[in-house]
Amino acid sequence: MSPSPAITRFAPSPSGHLHLGHAYAAFVASETARRSDGTFLLRIDDIDRARSRTEFEEAIFKDLAWLGLTWQEEVPRSSGNMPKYRSALDGLSARGLLYPCFCTRADIRAEIERSDEAPHGPAGSVYPGICRGLTDDERRTRIEAGEPHALRLHMARALEIAGGELVWIDAEAGEVKADPAAHGDVVLARKDTPTSYPISVVIDDAAQGINLVTRGKDLFHATDVQRLLQELLGLPVPDYHHHRLVTDDVGNRLATRDSAHTLRQMRMDGATPESVMVQLRRSYEAR
Ligand code: GLU
Repeated sequence: MSPSPAITRFAPSPSGHLHLGHAYAAFVASETARRSDGTFLLRIDDIDRARSRTEFEEAIFKDLAWLGLTWQEEVPRSSGNMPKYRSALDGLSARGLLYPCFCTRADIRAEIERSDEAPHGPAGSVYPGICRGLTDDERRTRIEAGEPHALRLHMARALEIAGGELVWIDAEAGEVKADPAAHGDVVLARKDTPTSYPISVVIDDAAQGINLVTRGKDLFHATDVQRLLQELLGLPVPDYHHHRLVTDDVGNRLATRDSAHTLRQMRMDGATPESVMVQLRRSYEAR
């Protein structure tokens, strides 16, 4: 069961053209809103400044309109919430829940290879904690020297503060126990942008009043950390619908950057909005 009326959303990143998998996510969100007399919202997730392009943003609107989807006129950009991310991060930092991490990917890889008992999470090895134990002096000196750094969540402390068990309600999986610890000390502010997907998504969803987060199953485990952040930041907890992913004719998941399945390419190859909608509806009914 999903909340009714559902206020749900599609939040693509303007870093490429939408493909059939994106169209399915947008369709599921829009259909859920329609069936519950709810609201379908769109949001442009442009926190990755290096990869976001206006042309992709324009193409997103064009592709969704071509499919016949309609959404509320106001379409916020995540980049507009940068001050909110900053104040949330400052708050976490003031509670001693963040620490600067100067590691490069190579440093992390080397450390993981060195220790045979590196902890593993849903996305592979978790951060082995190299910078967790630096002294305040070391941190200050390295920051003052201009060494690039990310900000990581001190997971053990965060769990302590959050207290007991965290759960979320998933439209398909039912009540799910969140397991943020499995992800280790995740990055909450990246070296290249002063935020990250987990912190921005919970803040953006709250800002839009989302009561049902609709997205693919590939992001199911991402909810572990997001649920913890909602707790730490005092944000409302939406329900979730992690839907199945669209597969190709032989059952393989579509690669995100597979150009043959972009809506744009499908249109050029003669697909009509009706033919694509039939395909999306068929996947939806067969779920
Ligand atoms: N921009 C993210 C993506 O496209 C959004 C994920 C989400 O819906 O939470 O993967």
